[in-house]
Amino acid sequence: MERIYPRFIVIHHTAGFDSSALTIDGYHRARGFGVEVSSPAGLVKEYVKRGFKKTQAGVMVSIGYHYLIRAAGDVEKGRPDFVRGAHCTALGMNFKSIGIALTGNFDSVDNPDGRKGHKAPTSAQISSLRALLAHLIKIYQIPESCILRHKDVKGAATRCPGDRFWLGPGNYGILT
Ligand SMILES: [Zn+2]
Repeated sequence: MERIYPRFIVIHHTAGFDSSALTIDGYHRARGFGVEVSSPAGLVKEYVKRGFKKTQAGVMVSIGYHYLIRAAGDVEKGRPDFVRGAHCTALGMNFKSIGIALTGNFDSVDNPDGRKGHKAPTSAQISSLRALLAHLIKIYQIPESCILRHKDVKGAATRCPGDRFWLGPGNYGILT
């Protein structure tokens, strides 16, 4: 398995309800996404224990994001950081970035009345996101200019993470 080293962070909303990483893993597996993680053994064990699909050589991790931030602020691990993502094809970002998704649908056009998920990031989601960003940029030495909303990635034809996601370039409020 090819390993990646993240140089960017791409932020998404899930455009849906407040579901767990395991539930989203099921959706993404149905869409044919997924990578088989076969090492390290301790990590494989951890995923299997969480309910991810065991394979002969390891475990299948299909959720396209590396981190999922739930409405109550819990951060759930998606793909391991060293595995390519399935969250942003533009500019080859799946091979050089960490994908973080907040549950909810923050787009006022797609989700005007909240029928497709909560309408705006919760304050718990924002504080967890800020803490996670601070942690990741420190580990991987990622400059703040390389934190992108999905729609900021050149060539990405999307409104993700929606206009009600109010953080943006120069305004992430990361405490370092
Ligand atoms: Zn997105």
